[in-house]
Amino acid sequence: MASTYPMFNVFALPEVQGIDIMTAFASLAALYDQVDAVLEQTTSDLDLPCHRGCSACCRESVFLTPLEFYFAWQWAQGELSDEERDRIIDKALALYDIHREVIEAFNEPPPEGEADHFLLARELRFDCPLLDEEGACRIYPVRELLSRLFGGTFDDKGGIYGCQWVKEHLEGRHVTLLTARTTAQHLHTLPLTDQRQVYPYYFHRLYGDSPRELT
Ligand code: SF4
Repeated sequence: MASTYPMFNVFALPEVQGIDIMTAFASLAALYDQVDAVLEQTTSDLDLPCHRGCSACCRESVFLTPLEFYFAWQWAQGELSDEERDRIIDKALALYDIHREVIEAFNEPPPEGEADHFLLARELRFDCPLLDEEGACRIYPVRELLSRLFGGTFDDKGGIYGCQWVKEHLEGRHVTLLTARTTAQHLHTLPLTDQRQVYPYYFHRLYGDSPRELT
């Protein structure tokens, strides 16, 4: 059965006009490779509890830039079946409808008296629409930067940027790790990285009730 949804054409997106998107994708892939290589050096001896099927970090709210989303979905269109892609889009659109108000609030300035959207992000909890039935990521090779960093880096206060199991596992140990925020800032040398939103938002933009034109 053919897909319910049209194929996404990155070149047709208005914000991509004038950008060498294939070079941007290549630079993003190179950044992912560099970060993965450092993470391998800094975490391979730590016996972290992260393993395929443990999706604790994918059941919160994971943020990514438009460039990362377009890169991932471009890959998914070549690698996943029509049925898999339809399932992802259906789930993402349903999540957007449930959480619309909070998700759209991320496009506004932070609430009065707050420096960022941190507290708002803590309100947003959902199972990532890209998880499969076994709790594995369907787009693992091209997953966003923050998921790569989660569980193997420091947060801004020198604590572990990760789930409770990683924090407990590393408690009291002296470790040398990357810092998540400064590593993630490397993204901003690339185009289409000024915004961070969640997957359901991007799927809504492409396939929701007022989708942009796709060809
Ligand atoms: S895209 Fe993959 S790694 Fe990222 S939150 Fe979703 S399931 Fe997890």
